[in-house]
Amino acid sequence: MQDIRGTIGRIRRLRPFDPLRQFRPLHVLRQFDPVRFVRGGGLFRTRATVWVLVLVLVGVGLNGAIARDRERLQQLRRTPAALELPAPPRPLAANGPPTLAIALSEFLQGGTVSTADYEDRPAGVPIDTIILHHTGVGSRNRATVIPESWQNDPRTSSAHFVIGRSGEVIMAIPPSATAFHILKQAAYPDPATGEPVNWINQRSLGIEFHYDPSREVPTEAAIAAGGKLIGALFNTYRDLDVRRILGHGIQTFRDNRHGRPVSEPTNLLMTQDLRLSPQFPRLLAAAASISPVVADAAAAAGGVEGLAQQIRAQTLAGRDLSLTLDHTWQAESGLPVSPLPPMEAQGQRDVIVAGSRPHRWATP
Ligand SMILES: [Zn+2]
Repeated sequence: MQDIRGTIGRIRRLRPFDPLRQFRPLHVLRQFDPVRFVRGGGLFRTRATVWVLVLVLVGVGLNGAIARDRERLQQLRRTPAALELPAPPRPLAANGPPTLAIALSEFLQGGTVSTADYEDRPAGVPIDTIILHHTGVGSRNRATVIPESWQNDPRTSSAHFVIGRSGEVIMAIPPSATAFHILKQAAYPDPATGEPVNWINQRSLGIEFHYDPSREVPTEAAIAAGGKLIGALFNTYRDLDVRRILGHGIQTFRDNRHGRPVSEPTNLLMTQDLRLSPQFPRLLAAAASISPVVADAAAAAGGVEGLAQQIRAQTLAGRDLSLTLDHTWQAESGLPVSPLPPMEAQGQRDVIVAGSRPHRWATP
């Protein structure tokens, strides 16, 4: 029997480790004496070693998992937006209330804008251009006389916005419609072909600064309001391109019987002798305070002065073409003229005003 018991004992010892069958951790722990265990060299051969290691590893694993869960939970609580929305293209924060007030012209307010002075935008054409003008009318006249002059004039002319000497901004045509601030369907040299084209009105927003350039420069208030308006438009109409802010152009100004080229808007974009006007960088600085897109373009150009020089160069580039332009050339677009409901115009106005909140660069 002795031999048999010894044999069974040896077989038991030789039996491979079976955790299910031998799961007795409490029993093992109760019996465990660490000093005897290490001294007796049990570290590498007893089942207790296996169980201690298993318990330690399970403990470490659980602890790590709990810590990771807690951290993840805190992250979820901290940054819900980061998980729900794609990251913004740049770190920005809008500050403060709108900086611009925009009035509707009495005709837009009353739904009576003459149908000869606007038409529907063509489908699929982006609004990517802003054209700056001067009215050529002395600013001692209120800015409201400008929409009045369009309304009562058989010629087809209008613009989206008029800016008066006190910085008042009037919307005469809502941006959703084409205004005729460069003649109707007018000839304007296509930068690519030099041919007269009729798409400048269709893809642009026209802003009239109300002053007479032969006697006046635009006021500080008008420059500040015009800049904010440009910035708010960039925040609202995402196809607008800073490289397509243009002066109306270089035109032949009849001075007695002598024609001389002048830029429009004179004294805002360029001086009488076609140098950069000191007013223009200030206009762009006001726009950059509202629009991060304009701010980016100014930064890329080395500052608002550099950007102003670029826009001057673009406006000058069309000089020869615009001087030789056939102003009698017209082509009908055939586009419909839908009514301009005052409520819709108000809605567009409100969106632009909301876009006039200044932006600052948030610290990353
Ligand atoms: Zn003009």
